[in-house]
Amino acid sequence: MRLALREAEKGRGRTHPNPAVGALVVRNGRVIARGHHEKAGGPHAEVIALRKAGSRARGADLYVSLEPCNHIGRTPPCTEAILAAGVKRVFYGSDDPNPLVDGHGARVLARQGVGVHAGIAKDECDASNEPWFKFITQGLPWVVLKAAITLDGKLSGGTISGEQSRALVHLWRDQLDAILVGAGTVRADDPLLSVRGVPNGRNPLRVILGMPPPKARLLRQPGAASPACSSKAAPTSTASSSLEACGTSCGSSSRRKSSAGRNCPGPASTKGATWNSATSPASATTSC
Ligand SMILES: [Zn+2]
Repeated sequence: MRLALREAEKGRGRTHPNPAVGALVVRNGRVIARGHHEKAGGPHAEVIALRKAGSRARGADLYVSLEPCNHIGRTPPCTEAILAAGVKRVFYGSDDPNPLVDGHGARVLARQGVGVHAGIAKDECDASNEPWFKFITQGLPWVVLKAAITLDGKLSGGTISGEQSRALVHLWRDQLDAILVGAGTVRADDPLLSVRGVPNGRNPLRVILGMPPPKARLLRQPGAASPACSSKAAPTSTASSSLEACGTSCGSSSRRKSSAGRNCPGPASTKGATWNSATSPASATTSC
């Protein structure tokens, strides 16, 4: 199961609004195929691993970090693929609290004679799925608060971040959907808020609370930036032009409802995010 979790990590930050899930097909104690969910709308981890295993999956075991789904979303149910492949036993880590799954996947497999074993490496799998659990049960994003703090508990007035902490920040930026800062931070630090030093890294949606200066460097980074401001505050024409130039449109507020379901519709596109867009990323970090 820990190998399956390692697979899941390959999709971290790319699967929104779905969870990052990994799967293995094991035969006679040997891993014969691996898979991870790569992006919403694409095949789930189980299906990818089973496709790779082909006919060798018949009579084999499947390990998956989250309970297999049994509903039709953007892709067919994984339970169907598991049954069609002739898998003998399924071992999974976390129960999926998604109301569309919630034990149905396990029950369908068991009823069809598949040996189902839940809760394998449960703590680790649950930890891996925490952002998903929060999103699907509360409709709220998983938030990571990042702050540079001295050992005596004071927020830094100077540079105290080291190489290791900076590397971790860039990893988080790559793995989380959005990064949130105040306009004051943008004015004071003029940060890039981009991902650097991470192979194949991608910039998160940059959300700025308030009006950033039109010449802010982050507005010129690849990816989208979205100012979130009170409806009383109107964007200046100069700022609007800058934001539009970087792929951000300025318009009226529209709050998107939290979506539910492992194959549920994603958020408004991060390209062309709207003014005060209140997008609901599965996860976000604050940083500077
Ligand atoms: Zn599935």
